[in-house]
Amino acid sequence: MNRARHFLAVASTSRARWLALLEQTRALARGEAHVPSLRGHNVVTLFLEPSTRTRASFELAARRLGADVVDLSPSSSSLVKGESLLDTARNLEAMGADAIVVRHRVSGTPTRLAPLLRASVVNAGDGTNEHPTQALLDCATILAHKERIEGLRIAIVGDVLHSRVARSDARAFAMLGAHVRLCGPPSLVPEALGALGAEVTHDLDCALEGADVVVALRLQHERQQSGLVTSLRDYRMGWGIDARRWRRTAPGAILMHPGPVHRGVEVDSDLADGPQSVILEQVRWGLFARMAVLADCLDGTPTEA
Ligand code: ASP
Repeated sequence: MNRARHFLAVASTSRARWLALLEQTRALARGEAHVPSLRGHNVVTLFLEPSTRTRASFELAARRLGADVVDLSPSSSSLVKGESLLDTARNLEAMGADAIVVRHRVSGTPTRLAPLLRASVVNAGDGTNEHPTQALLDCATILAHKERIEGLRIAIVGDVLHSRVARSDARAFAMLGAHVRLCGPPSLVPEALGALGAEVTHDLDCALEGADVVVALRLQHERQQSGLVTSLRDYRMGWGIDARRWRRTAPGAILMHPGPVHRGVEVDSDLADGPQSVILEQVRWGLFARMAVLADCLDGTPTEA
């Protein structure tokens, strides 16, 4: 029987577990939590798509907890020789991997892998589906500024269709009682995305009106069919966030972005570097969120599945 504890998606995480992880993330950042020891545990990062922040912070998080870490990049592994992901993962397990942190371009890959392994599987981003640790660090960032998520107006702006961050964020924010608006061109924000528990609008001014939090998203060229965006110039004019548009947000509103940022496309540089920007704080929270998740999967006190 597979007894491992995984972290796969916001959609499959209970509110109780989410709140416990959020509390642990915040306690670790305050230096108040007893830092769990993962000494003697092996964590493998298996990233089959590019990553800067997520991979580095998972590695740092695992090391901070005392675990041994092996990074497998596709160019250095037998995946390029045609070995299946499951075979690779089973071989890693045979060497004693306790947790496998997976990023894959195909949605659902970590969830399909998890029941087939004894190791814990942690989703570091699967296709357009979910990026649950990003949502956890985003919740922690918001709480650091707003002290609550319930009742906040949160606008998620840009290429929602291709964004796993948008899906995880929208689910997490809605689960915690925020009012979520999704905004972007109709080709990138179809009405069906309202199923995430959010309001869909194609008017950026409406989306920003009174918003307490704005999450700007990267235009995901690598996942787009041609024709969804007429030109970068048109996109910027319709849905790029600049200082003039920012005036519609609520006093004290914060600007977030999961990175990498396309300055001058989805958000202007003066905003990305301005006092409203918490983009680098998000990165800092990523370390504590990933520590909380790894500790919970490998050694944590049991909470509800
Ligand atoms: N870094 C985030 C992700 O991997 C956001 C992005 O790439 O646009 O999903």
